[in-house]
This record gives sequence, C-alpha cells and structure tokens, in this order.
Amino acid sequence: MINNKIAILGSTGSVGKQSIEIAKLHNLKVDLLASCSSVNEIEKQARELSPKYCVLTNEICANELKVKLKDTDIKVYGGECDLNSVIEESSADTAVNAISGFAGLAPAIACAKSGKRIAMSNKEAIVIAYKFLKEEIEKNNSELIPVDSEHSAIFQCLQGRANNAIKRIILTSSGGPFRHKNREELSTYTSKQALAHPTWKMGAKITVDSASLMNKGFEVIEAVRLFNVTPEQVKVVVHPQSIMHSAVEYTDNSVIAQMGAPDMRTCIQYAITYPNRMPSYAEPLDFAKLGSLTFEEPDMNTFTLLPLAFYAIEQDGIIPTVLNATDEVAVKYFLEDKIKFTDVFDVVENIVRSFENIKNPSLNDILLADKEARERTEEKIRFLAQI
Ligand code: MN
Repeated sequence: MINNKIAILGSTGSVGKQSIEIAKLHNLKVDLLASCSSVNEIEKQARELSPKYCVLTNEICANELKVKLKDTDIKVYGGECDLNSVIEESSADTAVNAISGFAGLAPAIACAKSGKRIAMSNKEAIVIAYKFLKEEIEKNNSELIPVDSEHSAIFQCLQGRANNAIKRIILTSSGGPFRHKNREELSTYTSKQALAHPTWKMGAKITVDSASLMNKGFEVIEAVRLFNVTPEQVKVVVHPQSIMHSAVEYTDNSVIAQMGAPDMRTCIQYAITYPNRMPSYAEPLDFAKLGSLTFEEPDMNTFTLLPLAFYAIEQDGIIPTVLNATDEVAVKYFLEDKIKFTDVFDVVENIVRSFENIKNPSLNDILLADKEARERTEEKIRFLAQI
C-alpha cells in the first residue's frame, strides 16, 4: 500500500516543490505544509492542495498568512514549537523532511515521536545528531528512508540482502563543476560559477558544497551513520554522468548498483512509496544513447574538504557538528563574494582541526559546539576579509 497522506516540511524549497509534484502525480493527500517565511508561495500551495495545516516558523509571516487564508478552513500556525506540535498532531503517514540546516532536527524528532515515516532529505540532522533521532525512531516504531540520491541508491541496493553484511559502500560523486581544476584555478572562481552544477538542480548552499566536495564529505558521514559501516568501508568515486547513484559491494565482491536519470523526484517518491515502486517523472535510461559511463578517483589533494570529512567522522563526537557549522558560515560569506572559494577550504580545515573534541556528547554539548564553531568561523573570516 502506498502512503496516502503526507506532510511536506520545507514545502517552498527545491525538494519541497518536487514533493508536491509527486503528491499531484499520485493523488496523495497533503495534510501539512510547512516553510519558514515564504508567505506568497505557501499561500499558493495551500490554495491548490487544501492541507489541514499550514505552518510558517516565522511568526510574523505566519500572521500574514493567517489573514490571507482567512476564507479557507486551513489551520495556520506560526513558530518552531507550533511546527513540532502540529507534526505530532497531523495524521499524515509520511513526512518529507526537506527543511535545510540544523532546524530540521527537531521536526524530524517530532515525526519520529508520532510514529511517522520520515522521508529524510535533511542532511544536517543525520550528520550532527543521528544518535538522538535514531533513539526516537526505534522507541516509537517510526522509520527513516533516505531521500539524498546516493543514500536512496544505497538503501535500494540493500533490499533483499538477507543477513549479508556490507563489504563496502561505493559512494558516487559527479565531481562538481570544478572537476580536474587545480587549487590555483579554484581560488579564482566566483559564487556564480560555483552555482552552475552540471547534473543536479539544488539550493545554493548545497550546490557550493557540491563544487567543493564538502557535500560528498557530509554524505560519507551520512552513510556511516545510516548504514552502520566504518569510514574505511566508504569508497568515494567520481562519476560525472550521475547515472549510477551509488552501489553496495558484498563479501563475494558482487556490486549491486542503482541507476537512473538524475532526477530527485525518483528518490523522494521512493522514500514515500517504499517498498513499492510507482510510475515516476524520471526519463527512462537509454544505455546505447548514454554510450559510456566513466569513473575516476576524487582529487583529495585539491578538494581537501573530502578527506577532512573522513577525519571528522573518525573523530566523531562533536567534530561533525563543527564541520557542518563552520562550512555553513564560510559558504555564506563565499556566496556574498566576501571570501575566495579556497578560503572556504582553509577556514573550515583550520577550525575543524583545532577544535577540541567531546566524545559521546549530549545534545546540549552539540548545540554549544555548533554555536562556538560559528563564532570562531565568523571571527576568522572577519580577520581574513577585513570586515
Ligand atoms: Mn546527494
């Protein structure tokens, strides 16, 4: 049976909008739409989908939306606390969590607490605090199905594996727009150039992270957490065509890979309909037309944030949190063209390697580390850019 009622958290972002397309394709009832502050966009979505609830975490915007939707039966709420209680109240079977950043953690926990399936597109909650989320998922008979294309692929490759252990995960990377560039060339690129991703259409922060391979680094951490493997068991390979979305190697050296046209809607849909497959928006593959698929080693000497992510997950504790926080701040300044692309690499590396770890952190330790790492990064960048 396909889940027939869904919640879309982060409905005005790229994954949120694609989730709506899937809901329309399969006539899924949307029970809850949530976003941060996009009043006009969410009003349009609400009028089209008639959800029971609509939440904007920004209170002022929520009040504006309340006025706009006065003529409907839709219940409009505002604020982060309201979002979490509305999630628990909603009778949706599945919630697509497409909220970006650390803000995606509490809603994910609210989904778990109310036993919903989480179609998880938020990376940060997994990188930073998966342990806490996992506890709630297990306690409440909830489940998490990854939406990130690589992790969706790995998840699919693990179906029907019986008790066989994973030997290795082959995590593919498109290599981003700056593949084969050296460090000197990287230092000259602007945010505009970094935003031109060759195969995937995504938000600005993740597109820059894809260009620096930081995104791949986060995905290594995600894979270690979600599939319970060691960092050494994760092998990153560059595959520019983005047709093979990742693979699993078993003890007999057989490799099971998942392939398809690069279209996030397939991943989102599978997380909603799992274990069933349904017709999708994705174009079918034509192998003869594709001609060849190529693979190469990632350039770890130039794209230093990828090995740094391996360092972070080997340290574990609060270090992945520090990596996430410092990168978010550095990318923000790069997007404003206040620092160079290579400054992102250097600042992030410096903050992460100099941060003292706490093994087995509490959630509060994690929050403090997040804050501290952001402050240190701001300070370093202000010094660097003389602002
Ligand atoms: Mn991905």
